[in-house]
Amino acid sequence: TLDVAWADRWTRLSAERIAAARDELTELDRQIGDGDHGENLDRGFRAVVAKLDGSAGEEQPPGQIGDVLKLVATTLMSSVGGASGPLYGTAYLRAAKVTGLQELDAHGVVALLEGALEGITARGKAQVGEKTMVDAWQPAVDAAEAAADAGASTADVLAAAAAAARQGAAATVPLVATKGRASYLGERSAGHQDPGATSTAILLEAARDAAT
Ligand code: ADP
Ligand code: MG
Ligand code: MG
Repeated sequence: TLDVAWADRWTRLSAERIAAARDELTELDRQIGDGDHGENLDRGFRAVVAKLDGSAGEEQPPGQIGDVLKLVATTLMSSVGGASGPLYGTAYLRAAKVTGLQELDAHGVVALLEGALEGITARGKAQVGEKTMVDAWQPAVDAAEAAADAGASTADVLAAAAAAARQGAAATVPLVATKGRASYLGERSAGHQDPGATSTAILLEAARDAAT
């Protein structure tokens, strides 16, 4: 099972990987958006780590997985801005709610990912194929569910989700965007990989790597 130490590692690894991918994400967003996705997320995850570090001296440090996810949610909502701030914020908030206080088994991991996806679609109303982060999250949830149903471990469920998210992000290249800023480009949005789907793959790979 996965516990709060995993959630803490996932969060810190996410911050490291997003910082390392900052320029790549910004370049992707420069091609079909306004060129701020890397900056937005890097600023957000730096603030998250600062809060995690600061929370050690506070009255209630995150004691459960849901507490970590909630801290990530509220910090991203207040510091990221743009479309992705509220979307990822809602994702982590929903994930925190379904995850609750327990440790996670394989089906718990599926519930966490499903909650995140539901948060994103509730907030952004995008469906698969609209060239958004949903194109990484939906296949990740599907792959995680299939793995859990087949009896996979939590680590293997996360590995399946990460691989599917990475493939989903790559598969956004030929798509024409119909949601978000990239939709302003119409047909010209085709031929570029979606920044938000790419950051989703990075975050889920961090989740996988934090588990092993
Ligand atoms: P902004 O577009 O406001 O500058 P970001 O650059 O941080 O915000 O994030 C852009 C990403 O947000 C896109 O690449 C896309 O994946 C995601 N996105 C935008 N609108 C939606 C939506 N309605 N539903 C899901 N994801 C969306
Ligand atoms: Mg942008
Ligand atoms: Mg912007």
